Amino acid sequence: MSRLESFIRRLTAQRDILDQVCAEVAKMEGPVLELGLGNGRTFHHLRERLPGRRIVAFDRALAAHASSIPEAENLVLGEIRETASRFIGIDAALVHADIGTGYEDRDAVTSTWLPDLTARLLRVGGIAVSGTPLDHPQLQRLPPPPSVPADRYFICRRV
Ligand code: SAM
Repeated sequence: MSRLESFIRRLTAQRDILDQVCAEVAKMEGPVLELGLGNGRTFHHLRERLPGRRIVAFDRALAAHASSIPEAENLVLGEIRETASRFIGIDAALVHADIGTGYEDRDAVTSTWLPDLTARLLRVGGIAVSGTPLDHPQLQRLPPPPSVPADRYFICRRV
């Protein structure tokens, strides 16, 4: 598969998964945490699907399109491992982590801290969506929508 095809599949998977989980998150209290604002496309999508919901976005640096920049109080810059740790206990309804790099060794390092951090950020019953695996005893894997190939994107519920 070419990188272009892989990219298209990733974006399609993101949209289909976010649409699926937002229907459930809409009925749940708690903010949304966007780990990896990037260009802001998925932030923009979440903002459209969950109008009025607080969405806190994290990144090393601001590089989002002007239409997709959170309010200053909801933009947190720095290394996510450190910055998001300050939000432990916030009882998020949804944590969306799009910080995979496509490099196995780098993503393996992320997998050493992201699952535990995600579990601590979520409320019980809250949902995590991630491009890298979230293996953790408090994160129960959920099936992706039928359009998403297995092990392409990961959906979990905080138990
Ligand atoms: N979902 C975004 C969108 O739709 O536009 C794209 C996110 S992009 C793939 C990943 C972003 O995460 C990059 O902007 C990168 O700077 C940020 N990132 C990755 N790892 C990070 C880390 N450990 N701390 C802070 N930011 C990180």
